[in-house]
Amino acid sequence: MVETIYRCVFLDRDGVINKYLENDYVKNIHEFEVLESFVDFWEKHKKYYKFIVITNQSGINKGIVNYRFFVDLSMYLVNRFNLSALYFCPHKEEENCRCRKPKNWMLKKAIERFSVDVENSYFIGDSLVDFLCADSMKIKFILTLTGKTKKEDVEKWIKKPFKIVENLSLLMLPT
Ligand SMILES: [Mg+2]
Repeated sequence: MVETIYRCVFLDRDGVINKYLENDYVKNIHEFEVLESFVDFWEKHKKYYKFIVITNQSGINKGIVNYRFFVDLSMYLVNRFNLSALYFCPHKEEENCRCRKPKNWMLKKAIERFSVDVENSYFIGDSLVDFLCADSMKIKFILTLTGKTKKEDVEKWIKKPFKIVENLSLLMLPT
């Protein structure tokens, strides 16, 4: 029996799909602005990859982000971008959970559940924690500069991402 395996694009949310808010959380729909460059990227790749979001959302357990709002927004994203799944960690850093990135628990679960072709999949994120998470599972990491990380920050990183792009409309993955 041949097992089908799927190519995936794993995505962080804030600063990748939607506009990055400096030191703030998305608390209402007005603060959630989808990046056109992401839509452009998604349009070009949706036929060829499964899309899975993997996001840290400590604003939930801090009591800053309303859980119901978060779930509604997530369902909207799942539908709009035909996501195969959206994994989130609601915990605060000090809760020392097993899921919060850079830990790879969520990514690992997704890889198992969707029989992911690790070799031909990508993780797109805007921060070092995304990179560390992806790298720990040997998934190629693409850094978008639309979020938390500035180009000069990367000089301090010990390992370098597979690719760095100004925004996702400039990214073309193998189809
Ligand atoms: Mg982010």
